Amino acid sequence: MSQRVLFFHYVLTNSGGETIDSSRDGDPMGVLEGAHQIIPGLETTLFQMKAGEKKIVHVPAAQAYGPVNERLKIKVNRAKLPEGELAIGTQFSGGPEAHAPVFVVFKIEGDEVSLDGNHPLAGQDLTFDVEVTLIRAATPEELEHGHGHGPEGHGH
Ligand code: ZN
Repeated sequence: MSQRVLFFHYVLTNSGGETIDSSRDGDPMGVLEGAHQIIPGLETTLFQMKAGEKKIVHVPAAQAYGPVNERLKIKVNRAKLPEGELAIGTQFSGGPEAHAPVFVVFKIEGDEVSLDGNHPLAGQDLTFDVEVTLIRAATPEELEHGHGHGPEGHGH
């Protein structure tokens, strides 16, 4: 079976019912089947749906961004951090690679700064209110790139 590209709108809420993200203000999101562009718990469900179908999808933390990893909460001396303004919520890249975890300041006590490298949605059960808008066969270009392009298959 050839791989498909699926387009969908979503409204993402956390376990507290707070809206975290939504595609409704813009274009639907496109994903290439099997390319793991989105969390596995959502990908599996979406590719079992049909165009035009709507669904509420609950994804437990374990199938979303995983549990909170306490080892990614670290304390460092202020002197070891890049110079500049430091406040709760200030972000630092954990390394030079594009996918290096982002560390966020969550506590400052004197010279001691507490950083959290967990994904902001780690440990959270998520709910996606989704609507599949289009499903079509992947183009050779998309297969080569490993991701979906626009609804008509144009490049970027
Ligand atoms: Zn591409």
